Amino acid sequence: MAEPVLGTIQTDLSGQTALVTGASRGIGRAIALSLGRCGARVACVARDAAKLAETVDAIRATGGEADAWTCDVTDGPKINELVDQVVAKYGGLQILVNNAGITRDTLLPRMEDAQWDEVILTNLRSTFLFTRAATLVMMRARYGRVINMASVSGLVGNPGQANYAASKAGIIGFTKTVAREFAGRNMTVNAVAPGFITTDMTAALGELVNEEVKKRIPAKRLGRPEEIAEAVLFLASRAAGYITGQVLTIDGGMTA
Ligand code: NAP
Repeated sequence: MAEPVLGTIQTDLSGQTALVTGASRGIGRAIALSLGRCGARVACVARDAAKLAETVDAIRATGGEADAWTCDVTDGPKINELVDQVVAKYGGLQILVNNAGITRDTLLPRMEDAQWDEVILTNLRSTFLFTRAATLVMMRARYGRVINMASVSGLVGNPGQANYAASKAGIIGFTKTVAREFAGRNMTVNAVAPGFITTDMTAALGELVNEEVKKRIPAKRLGRPEEIAEAVLFLASRAAGYITGQVLTIDGGMTA
């Protein structure tokens, strides 16, 4: 398969504000950069202030507008506050990307309550809280794009990831339901389900596992964060207004 040409999808997001969770590294960073490149003001959310600053600097270096908002997405009350502050600063919120996520992998007999809870709170509850707060603003403006980061684990399962797969399957059910609730208001809610993408999350699996994984991917390689970002850009664009409640799988053919 020929190497992808990335960073080439163009859509005009000027005058729009996007909030991206988990923007300090990996897929979220690539999404924040893509949205910034297309003219959106980007509110970058994560816990690591230094890494967030790097994302913000990278957006500003290309002439874009961005700010860092340090926040732990498991902190429920802080999320409402943060969305209010972002809306007050920029005067609106048109695009929300719920991307922050973690894994705490282990087979079910060994899975501890804390490992279950941490993954569900970080991945699923944060998606609920950010979406509820942001869609209040979008409803009033009668425009919005919400993109939630699911995973192929949420579609087909993955041994050792009962907590993670449940959180991602939950995100898919949530996406489809909320999409129906808002479809009449010019608001779309979609999910993206990546396969294996080269980030810290997959680096943690180790070289051996990654080599094994590659054998299961028809494209014979892991995906790049930018390949997810390009798809998010499309779903965030005005052009994608008739697509809602969908899950876009990006996995090099793994679940084809
Ligand atoms: P990553 O490199 O580990 O980055 C995770 C991001 O989430 C970081 O920016 C991290 O920021 C943020 N985050 C984690 N816990 C947080 C918390 N409590 N509060 C605020 N931010 C938090 O992972 P990634 O691979 O880019 O994954 C991004 C999303 O894609 C996740 O939802 C993941 O499940 C999904 N995904 C990834 C893959 C893959 O193969 N990589 C496949 C399918 C789906 P801080 O640490 O700075 O807080």
